[in-house]
Amino acid sequence: MSVPSQNTQRSEELFAEARLHIPGGVDSPVRAFKAVGGTPRFIKRAQGAMLTDADGNTYIDYVGSWGPMILGHAHPDVVAAIAAQAELGTSYGAPTALETELARQIKAAMPSIERVRFVSSGTEATMSALRLARAFTGREKIVKFEGCYHGHNDALLVRAGSGAATFGVPTSPGVNPAVARDTITAPYNDLGAVREILESEAGAIAAVIVEPIAGNMGLVPPEEGFLEGLARATADAGVLLIFDEVITGFRAGPGGAQGLYGIRPDLTCLGKIIGGGLPVGAFGGRAEIMERLAPDGPVYQAGTLSGNPLAMAAGIETLRCMEEPGLYEALEERTAGLAGRIRTEAERAGVPVFVSQLGSAFCTFFTEGGPVCDWSGAEGCDLERFAAFHEAMLRRGIYLPPSQFETCFVSLAHTGEDLDRTAETFGEALGSLPR
Ligand code: PLP
Repeated sequence: MSVPSQNTQRSEELFAEARLHIPGGVDSPVRAFKAVGGTPRFIKRAQGAMLTDADGNTYIDYVGSWGPMILGHAHPDVVAAIAAQAELGTSYGAPTALETELARQIKAAMPSIERVRFVSSGTEATMSALRLARAFTGREKIVKFEGCYHGHNDALLVRAGSGAATFGVPTSPGVNPAVARDTITAPYNDLGAVREILESEAGAIAAVIVEPIAGNMGLVPPEEGFLEGLARATADAGVLLIFDEVITGFRAGPGGAQGLYGIRPDLTCLGKIIGGGLPVGAFGGRAEIMERLAPDGPVYQAGTLSGNPLAMAAGIETLRCMEEPGLYEALEERTAGLAGRIRTEAERAGVPVFVSQLGSAFCTFFTEGGPVCDWSGAEGCDLERFAAFHEAMLRRGIYLPPSQFETCFVSLAHTGEDLDRTAETFGEALGSLPR
């Protein structure tokens, strides 16, 4: 099947120009399309489920700004809330009632959160949560899982070395090896490995941090009993359990992953949806832990734009819209339907894939190996085939994350027609791949 032609000249020009001024031409590496090749599309506008690039090409968007846009782009109520707040000023560096209002909404949805502090990104949220966990427990080490991403702060930018669980090796030059050494990694979904670490490092571990539904190695849900086991093992060891719900908060369900699985983590990190598409992050948890934060306690944490009124207004409106009964169920149904159709199309095209789906998130792994349940499974996917598939979809007007290790998000703005077209396009693109 021939590859549809698409004019990307303006995006190519803009990318070349951007590279003269911005490292790699982008402000976050994955945007440069390095994992899939081709020209990153420069986006001019977004409305509902659609993106329009600088050449005027339109796409059905499954990136959703990497998660926040659960209502779709430029939702009129969210735009109105931002505009109304902008008229009143964009930042004061002083407290506002908006912060309390968003805190109330979050606490009502996630009962494990008794106090919450707003920051400006997910990275800041996880960094601050770890500092707090170390201060609260008086311990230094942390445990994270291979393939889980928690932002780009030093302690968490660590991959596993060899073996089931091992001391951390920095993923990036410039990460302080002394900091990374205090990070121990374990395979996702491997409770036994965590128990061993907690035993061999008894009294040294401050916290275990986990994406309760992993979304940064593709979509990898927790196996039955994994999160419950983590909660039990950490409680027994006096270790804090931190759920990184930057993606899953208000995505996996109204109560996030913790609501879905009935777990009460000690601390929770949030971001993305709670800012309705504006820069935001938050961390919260038990009052006795959170009260160690300055100004009540000695643990320092601060931010010029923390709790920014525009971000608070966008977040409040987004969460308010999501309160309408039945929305999460509708999203789940649409996404499960799409995932099912992708499986059928893949079978028809004779391309081996594993499609994972949970709530409004899904991911197509190019693997013959069946279910992907950890990083080694994700890493073993056919990345070349994924790259060819990504390009084939893009040229046909479907905008997917430009990496095998990312997750697709369906929003409330995706119509039945959009999903039909997407499923058909999957069929065409899969069918066009070289055997
Ligand atoms: N935690 C998770 C689970 C994430 O997916 C991300 C970003 O994608 C982060 C933390 C970091 O958030 P930010 O990019 O806002 O710093």
